[in-house]
Amino acid sequence: MVKKYEKINFGNKFIIPDTSAILTGRIEILSMNCLVPESVIREIRHGKMGRVITHDLNVIKTAAPKDEYMEEVREAAMETGDFPYLSQTDMEIVAIAKEHGGVIISDDYSLQNVSSRMGIEFHGCGIDAIKESIKWGYLCRGCGTKYDQKLESCRICGHRITRYAIKNVKRH
Ligand SMILES: [Zn+2]
Repeated sequence: MVKKYEKINFGNKFIIPDTSAILTGRIEILSMNCLVPESVIREIRHGKMGRVITHDLNVIKTAAPKDEYMEEVREAAMETGDFPYLSQTDMEIVAIAKEHGGVIISDDYSLQNVSSRMGIEFHGCGIDAIKESIKWGYLCRGCGTKYDQKLESCRICGHRITRYAIKNVKRH
């Protein structure tokens, strides 16, 4: 199956992949700001690939879904008719995404549907999830003039130039 690959810059948001998304190996779980419910870790550990990626799993942050968000997910799933198709883990993923303002990575249609209903950002697994790319800018500490290249001193006032990070929030 040919998938269309997207390159997405997630900025500082939490990335919340479901079990399948992690198992695709396309999510950079080591370098990205991943957050999952404990149940996702359990599913992977108990699955056939558990042994292979156990080491990586230790670096993923986990969060326990709060009851109030679980209830919100349940209500949304009832409304969209997706409730029978969602596992407990799926619902926990949506609940955590809602609470932490995260971006869900999943190819599960019902999970995407409920996320959409709740105004949660989501993407399919056919992505190349890239780490936030940092672009550097240069700033004069004297007059505040910004430069896009490194200089010894400010062309205007002669003060020292320091480097600062320009966050690249552009999406492709
Ligand atoms: Zn200056």
